[in-house]
Amino acid sequence: MRDYQNIINGIYEKAINQSEKGTVATYIPELAKVDIANFGIHLRTINNTCFGIGEYDTLFSIQSISKVLSLAYAMSLVGEAIWKRVDVEPSGHPFNQLALLEVENGIPRNPFINSGAIVIADILLSHLDDPKTDFLNFVRQLCDDDSINYNETVALSEKQTGFKNVSAANLLKSFKNLENDIDAVLDFYFHQCSIEMTCSQLTKVFYFLANNGCCLQNKLHLTNSQVKRINALMLTCGFYDEAGEFAFEVGLPGKSGVGGGIVALLPDNFIITTWSPGLNKKGNSLLGMQALEAFTTQTKQSIF
Ligand code: GLU
Repeated sequence: MRDYQNIINGIYEKAINQSEKGTVATYIPELAKVDIANFGIHLRTINNTCFGIGEYDTLFSIQSISKVLSLAYAMSLVGEAIWKRVDVEPSGHPFNQLALLEVENGIPRNPFINSGAIVIADILLSHLDDPKTDFLNFVRQLCDDDSINYNETVALSEKQTGFKNVSAANLLKSFKNLENDIDAVLDFYFHQCSIEMTCSQLTKVFYFLANNGCCLQNKLHLTNSQVKRINALMLTCGFYDEAGEFAFEVGLPGKSGVGGGIVALLPDNFIITTWSPGLNKKGNSLLGMQALEAFTTQTKQSIF
């Protein structure tokens, strides 16, 4: 096995000594309170050997990383019918672009932009008895960890300021691409984004996407083909209008969130999570992007 610990130690040292760390997201007021000095890396190999450095056991707001999990859950419940309501093309739009512009003829460009994730939230609401509890249980089951929870303060903070998401939901409704009550869909969406996890919990939760749909508890959640689709979407749509740059620099399927987390994986090999709350101009974690570029370059392990 490669000397992963040594490699991530070196990457961590370089990163924490760097003065340019980006800017913490402020448009969700609660996120602005997070200390920019946090930085953690966690790596889990397919045989469940783990390596970590820094704040890899500190909880943070996973935000858009949750969109991968809601999509996976919806695919496990509904299958291919999802693609009638959301497309699979990169949007090329910044993370803070008016969500309205991401919807064409009522069909969002992909499930990882806000409007697409709101449609996925709507699908879950239509298929679950107790959506917030059922979704949380799905995530807890993937991690085998019942401590994972929503952060109600973050969910409320976004509810009070998420006007663009309200606009997107209304537009989707006008196109008849939302079945449920707008407030109920947004309440679910803001909650899913507010889930808190550590880097080490995230490498566990995403294990099934590196392991042909089978989680660490040996339960099969998705078919090979569904896993292929989610990983393809992460590669092409996982980083707002920087998805091309992430493929170019890092070369792994992955997903970022405005809380500063990034999860990336190499199928059949490893899952890696970084967390540094300072974002670059495109809304992706600045140190996280750099760390993952260094990691795939030094280990020569990417999909390319
Ligand atoms: N809850 C955030 C929003 O809807 C998620 C943004 C993100 O992480 O990209 O704006």
